Amino acid sequence: MYSLKELYKIGNGPSSSHTMGPKKAALYFLDKYPDCDKYIVYLYGSLALTGKGHLTDYIISKTIPNVEIIFDYKTEVKHPNTLIIEGYKNGLIIGKNTFYSIGGGNIKIEGKQEKIKKEIYKENSFYQIKEYLKLHNLNLVEYVNAHESIDSYLNNVLEVMQKALKEGLSKSGILPGKLKVKRKSKDIYFSNAITKLPYDKDLRKIMAYAYAVSEENASGGEVVTSPTCGACGVLPAVIMYFKEKYNTSIKEEIDGLKVAGIIGNIVSYNASISGAYAGCQAEVGTATSMAASYAAYILKGDILAIERAAEIALEHNLGLTCDPVEGYVQIPCIERNAMGALRAIDAAILATYLNAKEAKISFDTVVSTMLETGISLPRSLKETSEGGLAKNYKEDENA
Ligand code: SF4
Repeated sequence: MYSLKELYKIGNGPSSSHTMGPKKAALYFLDKYPDCDKYIVYLYGSLALTGKGHLTDYIISKTIPNVEIIFDYKTEVKHPNTLIIEGYKNGLIIGKNTFYSIGGGNIKIEGKQEKIKKEIYKENSFYQIKEYLKLHNLNLVEYVNAHESIDSYLNNVLEVMQKALKEGLSKSGILPGKLKVKRKSKDIYFSNAITKLPYDKDLRKIMAYAYAVSEENASGGEVVTSPTCGACGVLPAVIMYFKEKYNTSIKEEIDGLKVAGIIGNIVSYNASISGAYAGCQAEVGTATSMAASYAAYILKGDILAIERAAEIALEHNLGLTCDPVEGYVQIPCIERNAMGALRAIDAAILATYLNAKEAKISFDTVVSTMLETGISLPRSLKETSEGGLAKNYKEDENA
């Protein structure tokens, strides 16, 4: 598996696959063909169908000068996030590349021998990691430390997460786009509404934090892919909750990010973290699983409790579809991040009560099931805005 830097990327929202990936493709092409007097970018699949709401055209036109962007809704493509860039000089085409935006801001270039990304970790499954830990008498944090020096990078990741959370909580108003969705994090945080639940205040804060980061993402703010932009609110909400509740130190937070990063890495390597490829189970499902492992680690869970928490969290997101209304990373995405953060903590608590040694389903089994489920989901429910809530949404239903 690759460095955790490949998983936790710092960039601008609202979508790692629809803004960060295409921006990377555009920069690659510009670098290769800097002298063109005209560029044409063709967007296919999910990039065409949800590109406007996800600001794909905005980020491309900001990156490439003299660019024409064509949304091709009809041509069938083999990867759901395909874009082709052509470069012209004096009316003649001088360069052309096909790119696939594969999730988490990563791209593949057709016909190009993939730059062999260095595999930092030889173990590619939770089972293999457990065996390694047993053999070398290590815990998960020590396992990461033995493979890469990443503390200062993760410290930066933490800072960006916390900044996005604070920024989001400080703002009111309407999010960009035609849905006119109101920012709600501040309202939730300061709400006077009281339920009879004794832990009401805790839940309210966790939700407000997830809203805050997701609202920053939806408005193009700087966030961390954890594992994607669309799902970037879950993990920071859980981190902030533990910071306030248990006064976690920066070292504990960095170590918790390592644990959560290994979980995200296993999903990314063996399945997918792309909503267009496997639905929202791959994005918010994975984020919930990562955050559950973080919570289990902070609650002093051992390797089996961490695995169980991550497994429970992902298992109960299986089948989760991706149906963003009008293509914006707002409905159902923002609320879903809040639910993911709550479920992450629930999963860690449940894992604490259960005897992890008696688990019948491993984390690896859930990951492969998630991939199979994702492949089986219809295209309409994989970030095309052709099905689900995106299809049934009525603008003035609750006006
Ligand atoms: S529904 Fe989930 S996967 Fe789809 S855009 Fe929203 S957050 Fe991303």
